[in-house]
Amino acid sequence: MADLKARLAELEQACVNPRARLEHYLSQGKKVVGCFAVYTPEELVHASGMIPMGIWGAQTEVKLAKRFLPAFACPIMQSSLELGLRDSYRGLSAVLIPTLCDTFRCISQDWRFGVKDIPMIPVTYPQNRKIAAAEDFLISEFDTVLSRLSILTGNMMTDDALENSIRVYNEHSEVMAQFCETANGHLDIITPTVRHAVMKSAFFYEKSEHTAIVREIIEGLNELPRHQFKGRRVILSGITAEPTELLKILEENNIAVVGDDLAQETRQYRTLIPAKGGTPIRRLAKQWMNRKACCLAHEDFKQRGEMLVEMAQAKKATGVLYCLMKFCDPEEYDYPICRSALQDAGIPILLLEIDQQSTSCEQARTRIQSFADMI
Ligand code: SF4
Repeated sequence: MADLKARLAELEQACVNPRARLEHYLSQGKKVVGCFAVYTPEELVHASGMIPMGIWGAQTEVKLAKRFLPAFACPIMQSSLELGLRDSYRGLSAVLIPTLCDTFRCISQDWRFGVKDIPMIPVTYPQNRKIAAAEDFLISEFDTVLSRLSILTGNMMTDDALENSIRVYNEHSEVMAQFCETANGHLDIITPTVRHAVMKSAFFYEKSEHTAIVREIIEGLNELPRHQFKGRRVILSGITAEPTELLKILEENNIAVVGDDLAQETRQYRTLIPAKGGTPIRRLAKQWMNRKACCLAHEDFKQRGEMLVEMAQAKKATGVLYCLMKFCDPEEYDYPICRSALQDAGIPILLLEIDQQSTSCEQARTRIQSFADMI
């Protein structure tokens, strides 16, 4: 139990102070590349011998970024750019930006002109994912990324290195899924804030290191008797469910998170890189082609609503919290689809606006308290 607590505390600390994680790798003489959320091809950075580190913004006052972004840009990109302009990411060798939505497209250019000390490498993902040309196009994008990364390292990544990184990343995804399953038998220890820390901390560790820590956590939990949780069980959907104060409100209301469809958490892990289907880089491209039920990957018939219904039923959740990132168009488009699927299945859904910059969660508190009475 002491080890379990220590491991959980370590991951929570990584989320509180990602800068310490960056310094840790820099002090080992490693190069670190910032990876903007979400679906950034971290495997290419890892296989190039560098440490990929997630960029998810922070709760901070936005001042400098206002020169570049309109007030209606999503808070997560506003704060990420603000921190870049303030030099808070000094030490990064480059940042990778996936241009998955309109805001991302703006940010890639804003970064180029605003944060001149940290080179920006864009990655464009094809949205018509049914045609063979899309896969070839994405491979050519990855090749461009690799050329840019090789300027940082002085070496070109090899297929063997990428094969190894794919194994590391798939293994990590499987362990994270295992953690989510195990956590549901220990909802007294794995509260919403603790669960979030375990998931988010993955962005601040080399992935095999994080896998090892999460494995220890799973082993620690498995040594304990299963906990019979008597409170309410919900699924979280959205980009993130931050700030942490929001998750604390769930705890105050005896609500546990038993599953999630958050881009910052499970959404990135549920599609493995295929084991077969060509060269490692082609299989990495195929992972994008295989992604489902995500607002950032176009589908002619969106499957996210049905997926949430199935997840809620499988996890015995009695409600879904749709954590809508403020001003996030892709998530706004998906909300009516998810709501109608959940309502048809008789599963209550609560829309919560997520604002990373918000210092008060009082509105959310009232809404969660009322929702708790309904589920
Ligand atoms: S997907 Fe949404 S949250 Fe992410 S960058 Fe685009 S607008 Fe912002």
